[in-house]
Amino acid sequence: MTDASGAPIERVDTVVVGAGGLGSATAWQLARRGTGVVLLEKFGFGHKRGASHDTSRILRRSYHTPGYVALANEAYDDWALLERDSGERLVTTTGGLDLFPPGSLIAAIDYTTSMAARGVEFEELTGAEVEARWSALSLPEGTRALYQADTSIVPAGRSTATMQRLARENDARLYDAAPVTALIDRGDNGVEVVVGGALASTYRRFLARRVVLTADAWTNDLLAHLGTSLPLTVTREQVTYFAPSAPERFGADRLPVWIWMDDPSFYGFPTYDEAGNADYPVSWLV
Ligand SMILES: Cc1cc2nc3c(=O)[nH]c(=O)nc-3n(C[C@H](O)[C@H](O)[C@H](O)COP(=O)(O)OP(=O)(O)OC[C@H]3O[C@@H](n4cnc5c(N)ncnc54)[C@H](O)[C@@H]3O)c2cc1C
Repeated sequence: MTDASGAPIERVDTVVVGAGGLGSATAWQLARRGTGVVLLEKFGFGHKRGASHDTSRILRRSYHTPGYVALANEAYDDWALLERDSGERLVTTTGGLDLFPPGSLIAAIDYTTSMAARGVEFEELTGAEVEARWSALSLPEGTRALYQADTSIVPAGRSTATMQRLARENDARLYDAAPVTALIDRGDNGVEVVVGGALASTYRRFLARRVVLTADAWTNDLLAHLGTSLPLTVTREQVTYFAPSAPERFGADRLPVWIWMDDPSFYGFPTYDEAGNADYPVSWLV
């Protein structure tokens, strides 16, 4: 098939736009079920401008609505499947603490009722009990904690690359340097996906039965072609690595993931994968 200028248009079942964690997972899952998939990424695979590179992400069941907890429970099953399919170990279970200082702006009761509603076990601890159990932590007077034993760390960049590998192994076609520059509604014929950049001479256009848009911070650039938008605010998330002065107190077997449940909210990991920066010793925090 060609367009009016004679340029080729390739029919595919599904085009996924954006090869971060969500697009790569979508491509893997669709390809695994036998669907014809093309995954298009604007920059290079594993680039550092999106949200899915870097080392560590929290996997947790502790969320503030029953609906979120249900999704998180499903996510655990998905991670187990990814480990099985890939033969890689991706999930490191550390346990997790949600820390609520006195008068915290985030309500602990939303977390306890949501986990209880979905049958997730957790412990409620005083600050003193937390300090007695994990010597690296020192908390302000009156802090209360929820502990959930399944909280884990997953590697963002490595897992995304793994899902891309599995997608390819299941016959998905993945292209980087392939920015989607327009999405055109062709009615019953599907959606025309226009690709600019390095692939333009070979794959200028796809006609897809379905398009999955996983462009994250760039979503509205593409939705504009369809005359719509989402109320998104793009923020920059700052990650910092600290070098522990006493590493034996900060290993993944000795310290849980922790989240400070106030405004501002922030969180920390035990030592995991990358070395910390000696300019920012973690002892400054404790
Ligand atoms: C520092 C940080 C810490 C986080 N911590 C956690 C955590 O602990 N636990 C947790 O669950 N989540 C966490 N998150 C959130 C989680 O990482 C993100 O929700 C997830 O990575 C988003 O993946 P994505 O695929 O939607 O987006 P991205 O990874 O940003 O991927 C979108 C992709 O779309 C591509 N794209 C955009 N426009 C086009 C186009 N026109 N054509 C082709 N490609 C295009 C982009 O280049 C990009 O590669 C964190 C995020 C950050 C940044």
